[in-house]
Amino acid sequence: MKIHEYQARALLSDAGVPVPPGQMIESADLAGATYKRVVSEAGLGDGGLAVVKAQVHAGGRGKAGFVKLVRSAEEATEAARFMLSNRMVSAQTPPEGLEVNRLLIAAGVDIEKEYYLAITTDRGSRKNVLIASAEGGVDIEEVAAKNPDAILKEPIHPHLGLQPHQAMALAYRLGFQGKQVRQASSIMMALAKLFVEKDCSLAEINPLIVTPASAEHPDGQVLAIDAKFNFDDNAMFRHKELQELFDPSEENENELRAGRFGLSYIQLDGNIGCLVNGAGLAMATMDIVKHCGGTPANFLDVGGGASEEAVTEGFRIILSDNAVQGVLVNIFGGIMRCDVIAQAVVNAAKEVGFKVPLVVRLEGTNVEAGRKILDDAKSEIPTMQSATDLADAAKRVCEAVGA
Ligand code: GDP
Ligand code: MN
Repeated sequence: MKIHEYQARALLSDAGVPVPPGQMIESADLAGATYKRVVSEAGLGDGGLAVVKAQVHAGGRGKAGFVKLVRSAEEATEAARFMLSNRMVSAQTPPEGLEVNRLLIAAGVDIEKEYYLAITTDRGSRKNVLIASAEGGVDIEEVAAKNPDAILKEPIHPHLGLQPHQAMALAYRLGFQGKQVRQASSIMMALAKLFVEKDCSLAEINPLIVTPASAEHPDGQVLAIDAKFNFDDNAMFRHKELQELFDPSEENENELRAGRFGLSYIQLDGNIGCLVNGAGLAMATMDIVKHCGGTPANFLDVGGGASEEAVTEGFRIILSDNAVQGVLVNIFGGIMRCDVIAQAVVNAAKEVGFKVPLVVRLEGTNVEAGRKILDDAKSEIPTMQSATDLADAAKRVCEAVGA
């Protein structure tokens, strides 16, 4: 599960990481007043620096023009209007971009230098790893690709956790000076603790910044001004506080719809809709479709115990996607019964109609009953073909869509 930056900032702040104050809004009408409140909370007068930031589950906002520095209520309102009425297109969004429904208005800071800091799981070493760079900011992907030596990695012991001496040493290697070293290492320790406590799959601060020296802070201050957290879905049951942060408007509509019926639906970008049972069979089906030159538009895994009603909903979801030019049903009935699938095919044909070619391959439990149901309904489903095995099925559906 992903959350928004404003939510991630709250988690960091609760864990003791210094974050400039901010407020989420959903209407541009609130931008002016929110600007005033946020700058005053930060101890800045009118004309103080603030930043208006689109809250979407995608990065690259800075480059896309969806992170804007403002110095007045009017500028904040104008930035808010722009972001709420334009889709954000960045390297991390689909080509048509994302609708922006929420904004963060945060106190702005002067930046001396930007760093990158993150924790994720390194499957290779089977450990969590702290990743850091003195070249943080909006070009971190390019740094990682062109200058991988600028990315430092520190493994985290699975039982002992991140040790203070590791964090201190890493802070020195990153070039933090004077009091910054302790500030940066405390932030690393807090991030490591959060990562485990909240069952994160990614915890990232980019940029972690140092502010210019001032009379009050002669060594500058180390602050987090952007944050991204992803959580392990399998651990959500033990985090009520995180479940509340879920924003359905950021999720794929069809994936949510399938979830309500206990089905797993994954949207892809091809033109063959695939209804299968079991994750392993789904992967094998994708592979063989690709092998035959086709590209899946999605896969919908009906799992083991789905009801006829749920499977019918599965067909409705697949057929609602205009990109789907052919449907492949590949079922190896174990717990799932072939007659349930066949009946759902017939229901969907009656209700929605298969205007596109449909290729069905059924094997396993109650296969004879399933075949009979489909045979009896043949005249009602003129685009249907039966396949003898998976290879035959993939070949037929690829031919049918002209792949
Ligand atoms: P992202 O592009 O989606 O990762 O959004 P960020 O929140 O990381 O913002 C992108 C960039 O905008 C940062 O790397 C900073 O250079 C700049 N930025 C963001 N907030 C501030 C701020 O408060 N002050 C200044 N001077 N720059 C900021
Ligand atoms: Mn960022």
